[in-house]
Amino acid sequence: MSDVLIPRLAILGVGLIGGSLALSLKQAHAVGETIGIGRSLSNLEKALELGVVDRVTQDPAEGVREADVVFLATPVQALGPMACQIMPHLKPGAILTDGGSVKAEVIRAIEPHLRADVHFVPGHPIAGTEKSGAEAAFATLYRKRRCILTPSAHTDVHALELVRSMWETAGCEVVIMDVEKHDRVLAAISHLPHMVAYALVNGVGSYDRYDENILAYSAGGFRDFTRIASSDPTMWRDIALTNRDALLEMMEGFERYFAELKENVSSGDADALYRFFRRSKELRDGILTLSTEENT
Ligand code: NAP
Repeated sequence: MSDVLIPRLAILGVGLIGGSLALSLKQAHAVGETIGIGRSLSNLEKALELGVVDRVTQDPAEGVREADVVFLATPVQALGPMACQIMPHLKPGAILTDGGSVKAEVIRAIEPHLRADVHFVPGHPIAGTEKSGAEAAFATLYRKRRCILTPSAHTDVHALELVRSMWETAGCEVVIMDVEKHDRVLAAISHLPHMVAYALVNGVGSYDRYDENILAYSAGGFRDFTRIASSDPTMWRDIALTNRDALLEMMEGFERYFAELKENVSSGDADALYRFFRRSKELRDGILTLSTEENT
């Protein structure tokens, strides 16, 4: 019997999220063999060359056949179809888990198609960068980050414990959360900021009063604020489509604050502007204190 946590791990979608999990588990000697599965040969070859995975295949059925754990790490809308495609080829007792940024829709797409002898544990590591592909993966991505698991009433407890151990080994604090709460919390702290950054870059980039691209003048503030607008468009299209209700609620809330700010600027209300900025600064400074405490 193997003494590693996961004798054979299959990663379907060897990008930032899948590749980083593979690297962190390998560094912790927690996996036997890691198989990378994907569509493009160039990304798989890069994953092999960088030592992210031990072998690769473009055939999902072959890649998952002997796997004890299969980690799905494709864009959200591909997770359900991929799970259905591999379902007949999983070995009895296999654990299927994912890292998708939206959970209710992914569970709806996968659970009805689960075989009785396969266990599904939905998950979402709260870590990332704006970079994509195997080349973007690094072993410390999950260190001191949180990973949210959203088990349902059908989730097998042993499978849940193994997935918890997997993420703890990768460096995460694991949080169990209700699926609806997950999708709303993430809509607020991650999905809305991405929408704002994408809209801001579009708005500023299309300003055409002068005969030149004014983005050339962008410096620290603009670049810091819009870093996340360099994130993969397919990934964010899928998140916007699959977490639509929660995201719309957050976008409407944001519009109300933006309208208040616009009104204060328009009316020249100095006190109101000061109060608005001071409240924002206090909230933002509070986040910095929180994350310092969490990271110590
Ligand atoms: P990524 O770097 O672009 O990697 C995704 C991988 O999936 C790629 O290597 C790609 O390889 C494969 N893929 C893309 N489309 C596919 C399709 N239609 N069918 C099958 N394979 C496909 O993206 P990522 O940042 O790792 O994100 C992966 C998942 O993690 C997403 O569900 C995302 O929501 C979630 N997530 C992302 C972050 C973040 O900050 N980036 C954080 C937490 C969770 P091939 O093109 O070669 O197939």
